[in-house]
Amino acid sequence: MNHTAPLSLSNSLKNKQVVVKWSEADTQTLSHQHLRGACPCAKCRAARIKGYLSVVDADVELIAMNPMGYGLQMIFSDGHDRGIYPWSYLRELQY
Ligand SMILES: [Zn+2]
Repeated sequence: MNHTAPLSLSNSLKNKQVVVKWSEADTQTLSHQHLRGACPCAKCRAARIKGYLSVVDADVELIAMNPMGYGLQMIFSDGHDRGIYPWSYLRELQY
């Protein structure tokens, strides 16, 4: 279930959300807080399993995104930059 890269990505620090345009008819909006909580790196996965990452600071911001081919590296204001979100994983996230 591979997903190709979106047509465009726009990050709003003001609204603290990312708008991902997958196609002309398919646009997804994701909050920074939700993205941080869904970080797919090994450390965050382990933390979620143990229940540590259930509460993410509402002030957390996504400060940079680096396309990596198969997905997107996200760099957050809490200093966390280990998460690379594959396109298919990103597509399945809700808000
Ligand atoms: Zn992480």
